Amino acid sequence: MLTKIYAEVCVNIPALKTNKPYHYSIPENIKDILSPGHKVLVPFGNTNAEGYVVGFTEKAEVEDVKGILKIIDRQIVIPAPLIELAKWMSRRYLCPLAKILECIAPSGIKTRTSQIITLRHEKLNDKFMQDIQCYAPLQWRIINLLKNSEKGLLEYKTLKRELKNKNIYSSLRKLEEKGIVHIDKQEKTGVKRKLVKSATLLYDSSVMDFGTICDEYGIKSSIQKKILKEILNRKEISLVELSTILGISYSGVYSSAKALEKRNIIKLENKEIRRDPYMKPYENPANLTPTDEQKNVLELIDECLERVNGQKILVHGVTGSGKTEIYLRAVEKILNMGKGAIVLVPEISLASQIVESFKNRFGDLVAVLHSRLSAGERYDEWRRILDSEARVVVGARSAVFAPVKDLGIIVVDEEHENTYKQEEDPKYHAREVAEKRIELEKGLLVLGSATPSIETYYKGKRGEYIITNLKKRVNNRPMPVVELIDMRKELKSNNKSIFSRRLHSCIKQALKNNEQIILFLNRRGFSTFILCRDCGFVMKCPHCDISLTYHFDTKDLKCHYCGFEKKVPDFCPQCKGSAIRYFGIGTQRIEQEIKKFFPDCRILRMDMDNTRKKGAHERILETFKKRKADILIGTQMITKGLDFPGVSLVGVITADTSLNLPDFRAGERTFQLVMQVAGRAGRGDVPGRVIVQTYNPRHYSLQHAVNCDYKNFYAKEIILRERFNYPPFSEMANITIKSQEEEKVKVCAIQLGAVIKEKFAKLWCIMGPSPAPIYKLRDKYRWQITIKGKSLDGLEPLLEFKRGIIEKYSNVSIDIDINPIFSL
Ligand code: ADP
Ligand code: ZN
Repeated sequence: MLTKIYAEVCVNIPALKTNKPYHYSIPENIKDILSPGHKVLVPFGNTNAEGYVVGFTEKAEVEDVKGILKIIDRQIVIPAPLIELAKWMSRRYLCPLAKILECIAPSGIKTRTSQIITLRHEKLNDKFMQDIQCYAPLQWRIINLLKNSEKGLLEYKTLKRELKNKNIYSSLRKLEEKGIVHIDKQEKTGVKRKLVKSATLLYDSSVMDFGTICDEYGIKSSIQKKILKEILNRKEISLVELSTILGISYSGVYSSAKALEKRNIIKLENKEIRRDPYMKPYENPANLTPTDEQKNVLELIDECLERVNGQKILVHGVTGSGKTEIYLRAVEKILNMGKGAIVLVPEISLASQIVESFKNRFGDLVAVLHSRLSAGERYDEWRRILDSEARVVVGARSAVFAPVKDLGIIVVDEEHENTYKQEEDPKYHAREVAEKRIELEKGLLVLGSATPSIETYYKGKRGEYIITNLKKRVNNRPMPVVELIDMRKELKSNNKSIFSRRLHSCIKQALKNNEQIILFLNRRGFSTFILCRDCGFVMKCPHCDISLTYHFDTKDLKCHYCGFEKKVPDFCPQCKGSAIRYFGIGTQRIEQEIKKFFPDCRILRMDMDNTRKKGAHERILETFKKRKADILIGTQMITKGLDFPGVSLVGVITADTSLNLPDFRAGERTFQLVMQVAGRAGRGDVPGRVIVQTYNPRHYSLQHAVNCDYKNFYAKEIILRERFNYPPFSEMANITIKSQEEEKVKVCAIQLGAVIKEKFAKLWCIMGPSPAPIYKLRDKYRWQITIKGKSLDGLEPLLEFKRGIIEKYSNVSIDIDINPIFSL
């Protein structure tokens, strides 16, 4: 253990380009308690800044070391293993530590300093206080604003705003000199604990009943009587609740309660309540007896838990094999061992079903974290975890940072999903971070998937993970029958509809049998490009190198990358002709076609366009689950993990969208997609049927998907990966240079490329610089450099090169993405 002489503090100014922690001396009074993960206030430049203690050192780098001013939060905000994890991430993803810590601690706990101006009440009655003659006009206005404020105090910012005057500071100083006001600094957190006014009875209700109190105190007001009655019933009740129960306005309740308080009958207090994003009542958990296959996996998990040192398991189980039940039981074991658990799920639409299972099983011990929570909800859930009130965290990728103490297990459900990769800085992969965290905390990692990523399965084959299988569906339900439909033949037979004859008749049959249908297409909107048939002009986004998508509901053309919108022109902007035609299909088009062919069926659509609002996902899925709709049409959001027993038919409108992506993962994506979509069929008593339409029926991904044959798909894919030296046989770093100035990007890219080649060419294969596949995006031109090699250890100098370029050229930004999922 190092002697604590200096603290290493990572100052929380994300704009700061340096990655190094700063050294501060430690005042004696906090020396014993100060630990890594404490949030502290330190002098920084001309101001004070907050930061996190990330370590200790015996030698300071500079001579003139300043001291820590104070500990902001007594509680350790970032537990030690997470500090270690952050340092590792900073090296792995070439991202400043401050940025990573910012991502680990929710925004709510960040504090800002504000100045509070308080009127000195003891001076209020002084003569000169009342004498306008004593003050300059601005000073007089300040005094009156303060007098009229609720508590006789105002924030500096508010005062400034009220007075529409930037130069009030000297006036305030003068008032302070005269002893009229105080100017104080106050730290405020962005999000506060939520407080509500609650009333409690000051009497023992068994001694004095309602009648006695009313008589004794002569309570006549009927509102006061009603309030008193409720309080007698409940001992404690919030005023908001009272107002709802009694149907009286809040202010009405408040004034009557105040009157009761004045007579010392009740007490009014601010009580903290937690914002609870999960508003459903818990249901009784299903009591399931594990199947033999589930038992085997659980026994294996038991064995691993006995060993406790960073074990890793891949649960490769077909869709519907009951993986959730395994997670639940594994987590239960962990809780019994006194440890905590994190369960990562790819998306919140999916989470809602799994959240339900966990909430039903473990109740309030479960905290839910995901990006759709409000800042306040997020803060409260996070606090509950930090205080160990919640021991199980279910959430999307950033939940991997949840400050769970004594973490025993991380489950990554649907580990192959792309949503685990964060596309903004820090560009981490949650599965990889989970793996590292488990190593640091010596827990158990459980990855689950029906279609494991090639990387994960490869690691399993090499012995880094224990692979365990669930080959059968629960209750021996059969795997769905998958059929490929060759759309070229449809065209030849003169069927120009987007539905093949086979899919059409299956939809008809399913509707007739009262069974539900899912139709999948990975493109939202109505048509994906519009073209003038006379001159060949394609409508493109003026800000991006992307064709615009037509949206039927709003009659708009939209850019799916930057959000640009415009009305559909009546004439071609180029040749002024009127032969504008729509090509490519999106989910809205399917909706319209279905309406045309099956006018009586009830349709739901689910894609990015109609799920932006909070709760929209859940509402659509609820409706479908309750069988209030026959057909659900959607993008990839509907492929994942959903369990709808009523669905007997799944149609993939075209498998070619993902097959034709210019990406080495196209084959893997397509296989996963068809398998996942297929997994939605036949989960109830009716066997499932899956119809996949394609122009490439011979493609190996589709051929193996038809047979639900992961092993042979993997065997074929891994050979291709090795031959072309793609992951998992190599690692890649993608560097994107961006600027609004076309010439400048090119110059920078070439310069950066030269530096990289000079330093790294011996170690790694370097491709580019060259214009990016999408050359222009959101008005920025883009060039790329790709570095590929066995391992990317030792890439840190790249951060220095990047800094060199950015400092030299203005308006240029450089993105570094380690093992990118998509390369735009
Ligand atoms: P997966 O995640 O592997 O696709 P799920 O966990 O969604 O599968 O389980 C599929 C269905 O089987 C769920 O409705 C679940 O309640 C049910 N199930 C799971 N385990 C059992 C069991 N041992 N006995 C009966 N039903 C089970
Ligand atoms: Zn655009």
